[in-house]
Amino acid sequence: MSRDSLYGRWFTFLPQIRTFLLETVYPEQAVCRACGRISRGGVLCGDCLSRLTADGMTFAWNREDLAPDLPAYFLRPHTGIARDLVIRLKHRAEACLADVLADLVMPVPGWITFPPETVVTWVPMPERRREERCIDHGQMLAEAVAARLRLECRPLLRRVDNREKTQATLHREARMTNLTHAFAPAGKITDPVLLVDDVLTTGTTALRCAAALREGGAREISVLAITRATSGKI
Ligand SMILES: [Zn+2]
Repeated sequence: MSRDSLYGRWFTFLPQIRTFLLETVYPEQAVCRACGRISRGGVLCGDCLSRLTADGMTFAWNREDLAPDLPAYFLRPHTGIARDLVIRLKHRAEACLADVLADLVMPVPGWITFPPETVVTWVPMPERRREERCIDHGQMLAEAVAARLRLECRPLLRRVDNREKTQATLHREARMTNLTHAFAPAGKITDPVLLVDDVLTTGTTALRCAAALREGGAREISVLAITRATSGKI
């Protein structure tokens, strides 16, 4: 194991170790997952909770059709604490944040329904990045959301092109090219699919994944994301 990857492993678990130690010392309290200060019970402290609702938008589910047969649901704009949490899960690989984010999006309102046989899946990460970061944050978030929706979660996509280009730095057209043939179905798909992702930007990744899922046989596909970044920049 390389030194970087060993460091990565430690780095991944540091916030959890810190939280565990603090919660052992203060068993009646908890640690705020956003700012790391002691909170009184909840996953977020009072300050962070009020920032979350005061930073421009309260929680409200939105629907946007990425294509006529590809509805995407997202909870809020990619701003404030929700954005901080998404970025920390994504770039700093703080694994416990997958549960925090999944808790934040629950419950989904009655107008968003998924058939009980729906399979939850995620956008597979390029192999090299997965090795560097030690966790697949997309998988962790999908598993956390699936558990709360009481749906099955399993990999339905595989990465066929592991070129290391960061989508976040590319414009829409460049993204389309970058992701062409990036995904393939992992097997035959007969059930409805819910693709869970942390942040929806241009929607290109979701469209490419949906195309690969259809190639595998999926008929009914929807997308669920925590935040929606309208500028295309995350
Ligand atoms: Zn806090």
